[in-house]
Amino acid sequence: MNEVFPQGHAWLDGKFVELSKAKIPILDWGFLRSDATYDVVHVWKGRFFRLDLHIERFYKSTQKLRMPCQMSKDELKKILAGCVKKAGLENAYVEMIQTRGVSPNFVRDPRQATPRIMAFAVPFGWILKQEDFEKGLNVLLTDINRIPPSSVDPTIKNYHWMDLVTGMLNAYEKGNDTAILVDENNNITEGPGFNLFCVDEKGVFTPDHGVLEGITRQTVFDLAKELNIPISKKPISIEQLKSAKELFATSTAGGVMPITKVSGNKINLGAVGNITRQIHKLYWEKHSTKDWSESVDNILN
Ligand code: PLP
Repeated sequence: MNEVFPQGHAWLDGKFVELSKAKIPILDWGFLRSDATYDVVHVWKGRFFRLDLHIERFYKSTQKLRMPCQMSKDELKKILAGCVKKAGLENAYVEMIQTRGVSPNFVRDPRQATPRIMAFAVPFGWILKQEDFEKGLNVLLTDINRIPPSSVDPTIKNYHWMDLVTGMLNAYEKGNDTAILVDENNNITEGPGFNLFCVDEKGVFTPDHGVLEGITRQTVFDLAKELNIPISKKPISIEQLKSAKELFATSTAGGVMPITKVSGNKINLGAVGNITRQIHKLYWEKHSTKDWSESVDNILN
């Protein structure tokens, strides 16, 4: 098989390895059962953005899965920074993962397994490329239900992506860029790798439950407060989505990204709105400030 790897570097089983050599055993429950959690942070111009928030969410996720991460936070930070440095990347997508690991003699009891931690850095990836910002995302509103929180807690960042991947495939087949999923009450939830925000005459709002509590979502709350823009969490109906003045998606993979079309209907006449623009601008400005970012070199020294 001719596998092609992006520029990058990994850390696995206690050492740094080339991406092509970073492999896990076939019996790891992370692979066989999606019994794993992960987090993704990005590096922009040599600086991690809100790394402590990502690390905090990762540790909480491992606790909720009853396999609390045994590594110290400082050690993990150094591993992440080491992956970026060894990959030679200025702008990077950096992922930390903990799987349930392998259990002795393949016993079914998850408590018997020894969790496995790994990490890698690859070039920064965008859900909406920078050069397509003015065009915005053209999304498909699907009738696929996001896995309900009573089944899988969405605040644990997880690999239960079959609903999201189905949404993506439906979207690509119809010529859309990506998809939005709904919940059992037909309110909107999130999409493959991003949270959603609506803007109306009262302010900015985002679904209050049934979604990953994205770090970019949290960042938008912090930015909106600084900009004196009213912001809240509440259920969003399909009608509210369709009649929104502005819509945007948020993700570590691209930041604040305008949505200008939903299932063929233009939002804000197909143009990027002013609120989206203001939040997007401040978001990227924060990437060079000391309170919000930390240099890769600093962590390694
Ligand atoms: N929702 C889901 C399902 C995700 O997988 C992600 C990120 O990968 C997000 C939302 C956005 O989260 P963040 O802003 O922390 O990247």
